[in-house]
Amino acid sequence: MYSLAFSILFVSFIILTLIVRFWLASRQIRHVLSHRSAVPAEFAEKIPLAAHQKAADYTIARTKLGLVSLLISTGVLIAFTLLGGLQWLSLHVFQLTGPGMVYQLALLAAFTVISGLIDLPLDYYKQFNLEQRFGFNKMTPGLFFADMLKGALLAAVIGLPLIWLVLTLMEKSGALWWFYAWAVWSGFQLLMMVLYPTVIAPLFNKFTPLEDAALKQRIEGLMERVGFASKGLFVMDGSKRSAHGNAYFSGFGANKRIVFFDTLLSRLQPQEIEAVLAHELGHFKLKHIIKRIVMMFALSLAFLALLGYLKNQLWFYTGLGVDPLLLPGQGNDAMALLLFMLVLPVFTFLFGPLTSLSSRKHEFEADAFAAKHAQAADLVSALVKMYEDNASTLTPDPLHSAFYDSHPPASVRIRHLQAAAA
Ligand SMILES: [Zn+2]
Repeated sequence: MYSLAFSILFVSFIILTLIVRFWLASRQIRHVLSHRSAVPAEFAEKIPLAAHQKAADYTIARTKLGLVSLLISTGVLIAFTLLGGLQWLSLHVFQLTGPGMVYQLALLAAFTVISGLIDLPLDYYKQFNLEQRFGFNKMTPGLFFADMLKGALLAAVIGLPLIWLVLTLMEKSGALWWFYAWAVWSGFQLLMMVLYPTVIAPLFNKFTPLEDAALKQRIEGLMERVGFASKGLFVMDGSKRSAHGNAYFSGFGANKRIVFFDTLLSRLQPQEIEAVLAHELGHFKLKHIIKRIVMMFALSLAFLALLGYLKNQLWFYTGLGVDPLLLPGQGNDAMALLLFMLVLPVFTFLFGPLTSLSSRKHEFEADAFAAKHAQAADLVSALVKMYEDNASTLTPDPLHSAFYDSHPPASVRIRHLQAAAA
């Protein structure tokens, strides 16, 4: 009975999500198309019509591809759950491995490989057709597959021991396993924040200390003004893969580093780089990064507590097309993890705007910080260049943007910055 009710709830959320996402996408496409013929007045002197139209076409092409990807992933989700895909997979893996931890790890690995292979054609198409068409792709197919292999290897080396630890806790540490698992998971997240910039990212990109002496001096002056100590300023060879430009900030504690994509450095003036960096430092100084980490930890604690409950409910499995009694005595911990990770996004999607809302609030605050410690006008001109170079639309549908975008629309940000400058 509960099982059927849960299946119905699950399907209802899938349908609701599909309707909302198609509706938002159609609004976005219509809105961008209706503004395609003219650059918005406030940008008319800064962005040529051709660039504006390229951004419109790129946005529409990406939105359409997103819908294709949504349809595929929804079909795959239903096939794995209600149509019995996971049940089938677990029986076959069990025949190969026999009982025990090996079975559980193999089930998770098999699932990961299969879903990776299903995603592969669209990922490839996105890089070598969509990105290529708009001049953003700088990858060769060789690099694409090398990245994929490296990523898979890394996931195995890091992921398997972590999963092994979590599964062991689930099996042996009693009713509060989810709390211990949370502690392990949080510790792992913190460790990755230290290891990512220094160990993992360099496996994929080259990081060289910023050479340009004048620029370095300018940036060090800014860091001193706002009271920020960092281990270093690095330039990343982002142009190896994509023409999209960016700057980011990674690590924490003594490990902090600031990373500029070479694609960004080559396009911005020194004072614009300073303004972009002031914005990034704003996120740090206003404790946005810590707040985000605390939020993430609190959420994962709540979700793991929920999984602690669901794991012992028969309807959670049967309602999602898995009969846990088919492999009696084998423990269904890996299956519980898999089902949970698969269906959680279906139930949380509609909360997306809340995340966007808090993220936008932080963006406005970081912009205000930048306006105070650098020149607002420099940040505006840097933003305009970045929008143009990344072919980001200047005219998103307001609802679509409120739902998905972590950053406020360009025109709104710029209006705020100009008000701060005045
Ligand atoms: Zn920001």
